[in-house]
Amino acid sequence: MPTRRVAVIGAGAAGTMAAIFAATAGAETLLLEGTRDGGRKILISGGGRCNILPARVDEARFVTDSSPHTLRNILRSWPLAEQIAFFEHELGLPLVEEADTAKLFPASQRARDVRDGLLTLAARRGARFLPGARVTGLAPDAGRWRLEREGAGPLEADAVVVATGGLSVPTTGSDGRGLAILAALGHTIHPTYAALTPVTADPAPYAALAGVSLSVSITARDGGRTASARGGFLFTHRGYSGPAVLDVSHVAVRSRAQGNGSARLRVQWTDLGAAGWERALLPAGTRTVSGALRQALPERLADALARAAGVAPTRALAQLRRSERRGLIDILVRGELPWTGDEGYRKAEVTGGGMSLADVHPRTMESRRHGGLFVCGEALDAFGPIGGYNFLWAWATGRGAGLGGAGGRP
Ligand SMILES: Cc1cc2nc3c(=O)[nH]c(=O)nc-3n(C[C@H](O)[C@H](O)[C@H](O)COP(=O)(O)OP(=O)(O)OC[C@H]3O[C@@H](n4cnc5c(N)ncnc54)[C@H](O)[C@@H]3O)c2cc1C
Repeated sequence: MPTRRVAVIGAGAAGTMAAIFAATAGAETLLLEGTRDGGRKILISGGGRCNILPARVDEARFVTDSSPHTLRNILRSWPLAEQIAFFEHELGLPLVEEADTAKLFPASQRARDVRDGLLTLAARRGARFLPGARVTGLAPDAGRWRLEREGAGPLEADAVVVATGGLSVPTTGSDGRGLAILAALGHTIHPTYAALTPVTADPAPYAALAGVSLSVSITARDGGRTASARGGFLFTHRGYSGPAVLDVSHVAVRSRAQGNGSARLRVQWTDLGAAGWERALLPAGTRTVSGALRQALPERLADALARAAGVAPTRALAQLRRSERRGLIDILVRGELPWTGDEGYRKAEVTGGGMSLADVHPRTMESRRHGGLFVCGEALDAFGPIGGYNFLWAWATGRGAGLGGAGGRP
């Protein structure tokens, strides 16, 4: 039998993994990449350290408009423990856990080692890397696939893996062309939106706190759509960022896209609940509001929250009226965060929405609409929270699509 030719479009996280597994399964593998190098998101990930995987997975934290059940089936096709073993033993990249965040990083703390390691392994397994090859069209052609390229002649392949990513951070090479190609082939594309992106406020009432960071619990709610997160919160000149804000930002983004931005963001600023603050704010000698709040909050934020509650930070606790104490506690445990916008795709770590999971076979990632067409990574309708979840998705779906494309059994 002649060797099966697999063309992988996009050398990001998912596509490079697909090329490794397609080539390992014996396919003649071409890895086409629009930029000059590929893997640019891997390079900038995790602040240049690449949070390659989570140390533990909570599947319920993934977001999709498709079936969560299908999403879980896809994820389980390559369990976390096997992914860790792949990176440590096949790629030769020991991983270390950051204890307070449960994130895994390469021990070298260098994202470049991940990107270069994957491309090197793909080449070693026999995949041919074609950088500067932007695919502009894809069409079935007598049982095979024909790929149109920008500035070069068409290519033919027995199977195609679409690993073109989403729309976030366009400078990394993702421009949505892949999604347009999938839509033109009759796939359902759920509306896309920026996710894991900072939230803005104009005017920014807390701009003076830019640079202040702390750990909070935050909930975003818009009608029936809700998201909660616990973790780092950062005040910026334009609004709010940090992992907890990014994790719930899609609810705000979508409320703007679909309506009038009616999502409400509420923050519990410390570990103390209402009863805890009742105790902490009991009158004690000449102790002031500011003095009590600063026990649990950064100084500038403590004073800003007191003022937001209409209470002068210098007031003695003994002078607080009951209604003032109640208002203050309300802000401390479920304070509403004023917001008006978001930083969009320019800063979004991922794209929400994308090709419906109902359109792929969960094991092989083959399209249910076209045989020989496989889809993986961020182009699909799923994303996870900060913490290595999005690479987990890219690696699992990339492997499945590569094996599927090669005709092997995942
Ligand atoms: C700043 C930042 C930090 C992040 N940090 C983390 C992290 O620490 N941990 C984590 O899990 N996730 C992180 N993410 C998310 C993660 O990078 C993505 O989820 C992941 O890279 C998606 O992989 P992908 O292969 O589907 O898409 P991409 O990595 O975007 O790759 C798509 C590739 O396809 C190419 N391409 C697109 N269209 C075409 C075309 N028509 N022809 C040819 N080539 C094409 C692009 O140039 C690109 O190389 C981060 C994202 C950003 C932006």
